[in-house]
Amino acid sequence: MCSKIRFVAFSSPNIVLSYLDAERTVREHAVAAGSKLRCTESVALLDSLGRVLAAPVIADRDQPPFTRATRDGFACRAADLRKTEPLLIVGQVRAGEVWNRPALEQGQAVEIMTGAPIPAGADGVLMVEHATVEASHVKALPGRTLEAGENFVPAGAEARAGASVIPSGVRIGPQQIAVAAACGYENVSIHARPQVAILATGDELVPLIDKPLAHQIRNSNSYSIAAQVIRNGGTPVLCPIVRDELTEIETMIRGALKCDLLILSGGVSMGKYDFVEQALLNLGAEFFFTGARIQPGRPVVFGRLPAENGHRYFFGLPGNPVSTLVTFALFAAPLLAALGGQRGDSLGPVFVEAELNAEVAIKPGLTRFLPAFLASEIDGPTVVPLSWQGSGDQAAASRANCFLVVPETAERLSPGTTVTVLQL
Ligand code: AMP
Ligand code: MG
Repeated sequence: MCSKIRFVAFSSPNIVLSYLDAERTVREHAVAAGSKLRCTESVALLDSLGRVLAAPVIADRDQPPFTRATRDGFACRAADLRKTEPLLIVGQVRAGEVWNRPALEQGQAVEIMTGAPIPAGADGVLMVEHATVEASHVKALPGRTLEAGENFVPAGAEARAGASVIPSGVRIGPQQIAVAAACGYENVSIHARPQVAILATGDELVPLIDKPLAHQIRNSNSYSIAAQVIRNGGTPVLCPIVRDELTEIETMIRGALKCDLLILSGGVSMGKYDFVEQALLNLGAEFFFTGARIQPGRPVVFGRLPAENGHRYFFGLPGNPVSTLVTFALFAAPLLAALGGQRGDSLGPVFVEAELNAEVAIKPGLTRFLPAFLASEIDGPTVVPLSWQGSGDQAAASRANCFLVVPETAERLSPGTTVTVLQL
């Protein structure tokens, strides 16, 4: 179905995969590439936000470091509260203090604040909301009980000193910053951002700052790709627009091999002037696929080129702007994330489930990714596809916040069905 009829001498393989096989192929290479990374740097903790951890964060002491009350109330022996006698309040311990006095004895309680170490001898904390105090004595309100172990966290229950609390390969968000700060990390070790060469091909393209003639269009793909590169942890390197001319494409690709990954847009379809695959082939490319049974994005190409110290992966993305967006998200993003050090189990793409709020009828045979709008509602997300003019319709894509996935075999999806959505 997807074989490419060529008008020029051409001998690149014709490898057209299902979406799942194409995704698996990329993933295998991503995992292999991720295991060979060496380039790391050390940055101040806050500068690591959004970067990928290159060495695990190790707990420098038990977490929590002491047995910590998680409620304001009264530390005591839980069993004592079941007796009729109220407990004698023998003192108070605030957060930041320690109970240096003898262990609690039967019938005693210590007033305690959240975050304070619970005194030896206590095995629970009666919440202040569940307590009544009278004349230095405390008892539980009617119907309130306390079980041993309630309302405190034992020392070391969250992490033991010396244990890895965040493994390497995790993209750092506020929650990881919090843990690293708790473990005393002023600086963290992170992976270098991969440099990604972006090569837009097409005789009709003009730079965004130029005024296009009536038959020309502005090169928008370099910018959408650059945005996706940044989002996925890379540094975009925007190359000048490449004409549909074999030797020019070859020259530009050769120059881009100093980057860690090459993303080409346009020139991978069946047209007489689609020379990208030929140029790659002339430079010694190994192709893993030259098409995927998806729409948009069917002509997508994935492979690698021989280069200094090994090879460089490349993607040839179809030039239609929505195809470019979708194929980047599906295939280039996971590989880029891996080159940036992200763990194999977090490479994406990110799919979620939602309830379809429309009828979708479609010709089977391709996995479709239709621009759609995902609304989060309290009783679950819902999704509606947007009307669009096909894979060149970037205005429709800009109204979308996701792509509705229609499986290869589906002919019709009915309202109310649970569907899969590709998040952008
Ligand atoms: P191609 O993949 O080269 O056959 O191009 C398919 C369609 O995408 C054509 O209408 C091109 O004009 C358009 N296109 C290709 N490259 C770009 C680009 N860099 N920015 C915007 N549109 C593009
Ligand atoms: Mg073209």
